[in-house]
Amino acid sequence: MQLHFLADQSFECRDCSRCCRNWQIHVDEVSRDKIRGSALELRILQQTGISPLEDMEDGTCRTVRREGSCIFLDEHELCRIHAEIDRKSKPIGCRQYPFMIRPTPDGVMIGVSFYCPSVQRNSGRPLSDYAGELEELIREYGYRSVGFEPIAAGLGLAVDWPAYRLIEQRLTRWLAESAPDAALARAIDTLGRAMLVHQSRSDRVLGEDVLGVLFDRPPTHRLEEDEVLGTLREFFLAAMVGTIEAPHPEMARPITEALLEGREVDLTRSGWRGTLPGLYVFLHGPESGSASELEQGILRYLRALLFRKFLTMDRPLIDNLAALSLIPSVLRFYHFVDGLKRPQASHDEHLHMAYDHAELHMLTHVSGVNPLFAGFASAYLDQLSLLPE
Ligand code: SF4
Repeated sequence: MQLHFLADQSFECRDCSRCCRNWQIHVDEVSRDKIRGSALELRILQQTGISPLEDMEDGTCRTVRREGSCIFLDEHELCRIHAEIDRKSKPIGCRQYPFMIRPTPDGVMIGVSFYCPSVQRNSGRPLSDYAGELEELIREYGYRSVGFEPIAAGLGLAVDWPAYRLIEQRLTRWLAESAPDAALARAIDTLGRAMLVHQSRSDRVLGEDVLGVLFDRPPTHRLEEDEVLGTLREFFLAAMVGTIEAPHPEMARPITEALLEGREVDLTRSGWRGTLPGLYVFLHGPESGSASELEQGILRYLRALLFRKFLTMDRPLIDNLAALSLIPSVLRFYHFVDGLKRPQASHDEHLHMAYDHAELHMLTHVSGVNPLFAGFASAYLDQLSLLPE
């Protein structure tokens, strides 16, 4: 089995237990069978009156959270499944965290979650040091692979693996050559045009031959001059922040409207209230991707997302490209807001807070934001279809 590790990335667990908070963890069947009926489960039930495993309506099982943390944490914030049953009885998600494992036709990609503080700081040992443990996990658990079947792109079309790889390679190259927003705009524009041109063809799978022609053409326009994309990005950035910050779904709209109109906003989740500059400040980074530490941090995160095959995840490719193209603005936004809220904190601390928001609220708790990504992609395709070829 050939493992590929995200380059220039280190990690060493500090037992901070951060990964045991803020979400309910999926419990795979092997782990469920070992925990169910154990003395540990019984004791937690007796002590708290709560069954620590929750069966969901879709047949899956999750750990229960108590005061924001996993119910299996002890008073020292250590895992009681690990201590009292054994390491291998922990849910697979806990055993692998912060690694993200994705088998592909090119080998198994080993990426990482940027919610882990050690990953954010890039501290510890190189990822390749964990090869032995990861190989054990991969042998034990059937990780969902990508690329062995065509990847859904949207509009009823799909791309095969060589075509997907071409998109990822071109985007990676453009990210190195230009500002992230321009590179992402070029990618979504090029894929969108290819999909519109080919949507009526009988063969629904686009190959490298078809996409290569379009992806190797010079860019058709400059992002700065693309008012359609600029307006859409501004609206969807506001909607994204509204969705992330809203304590209840119905609160998302008032926050979104206040942001778009430049009125005072109450960002509940971030704990900040005030008036912000226009959203355009967050839409474009400097001309060159290497112009500031923040832009470097954005670039690092985008590359890590591409490496962990974010573009193939759960949604059509065009929706994932739309999501990815919002990430630089969201990171700039939260970096800025955290600067207002914690003026004494360092640049890195603001950036890490921005990573937290992206990982947790855009990429993990996705039910609220999924329609936004789909809406952004669909609105952009609609606008593109009105333009001359
Ligand atoms: S968040 Fe990272 S450092 Fe903290 S316990 Fe989890 S894996 Fe370890």
